[in-house]
Amino acid sequence: MKYSLPGKVYLTGAGPGSAKLLTLRALEVLQAADLVLHDDLVSPDVLACIPARTAVHSVGKRCGQKKISQDELNRRMIKAARTGQTVVRLKGGDPLIFGRTQDEISALRQAGIDFEIIPGITAAAAAAAEAQIPLTERSSASKLVFVSNHPSTDKMQRDWHTSVTREATMVFYMPGNDFASLIAELAASGLGDRTPCLLVSNAARPEQKMVRTTLGALESAPVAHAPSLLIVGSAVAGARGEEWLAPASSAEQTHAPESQEFHLSLEESDPITTE
Ligand code: SAH
Repeated sequence: MKYSLPGKVYLTGAGPGSAKLLTLRALEVLQAADLVLHDDLVSPDVLACIPARTAVHSVGKRCGQKKISQDELNRRMIKAARTGQTVVRLKGGDPLIFGRTQDEISALRQAGIDFEIIPGITAAAAAAAEAQIPLTERSSASKLVFVSNHPSTDKMQRDWHTSVTREATMVFYMPGNDFASLIAELAASGLGDRTPCLLVSNAARPEQKMVRTTLGALESAPVAHAPSLLIVGSAVAGARGEEWLAPASSAEQTHAPESQEFHLSLEESDPITTE
């Protein structure tokens, strides 16, 4: 058995999809790895960068259930590193944003295994780049909030309302496709029907789709295929993307008009379809 130098684990961000959005460091460790353990979110384009000699295991979810438990995953990483292997734990986007990485950090620390964290481009950054919008804007969007809308997120942690203001850009990861309660919560927090929204599915992947709409029309917007993100706030008003307007009996007609806070209204902007 090989008991030379202990190996090392690289908790690595795979970025949103395109292999061109990997960091140089991520590519370097992927090409040196003996074992890659990856989530389902990691794209085929990125997996194609791994040499054929490397053992590659998918440890993501199937039908909502993890293929292996977190404990088992930690054991595999630790065992491989102890036998001198270079292990890459590959996660979609950035490993430290909604990546459930704390368990792995704790287990590696406890086992005394050397590890390094390699950042990746998070989905929000990729979506904003594709839509050609800033997520913050000096005069109108001074706050950026990343929210996990996963149904299993603890009720306490779902309490993001205090962060909602007209000056905030809210990015909902794992938004699902049933926006009724989310819309009601945003409206109750003071956002009007005309607040710009952007749905981005498969950012930086060949299947990418972007739909620009408003809070008032969001509920009737076409289904965004996973993985998708919902971005809400004035910063997304000028986004590229297919335009989705509310059906004729728009709520806008029954509500008092809002102040002209959003400089670029949907009617004024020039819709660009990405398909
Ligand atoms: N660590 C990841 C997020 C993991 S949570 C990151 O930093 O991006 C999983 C959620 O991320 C998905 O449900 C979706 O909301 C979002 N996501 C990941 N990749 C995406 C992509 N290419 N396009 C749109 N959303 C994406």
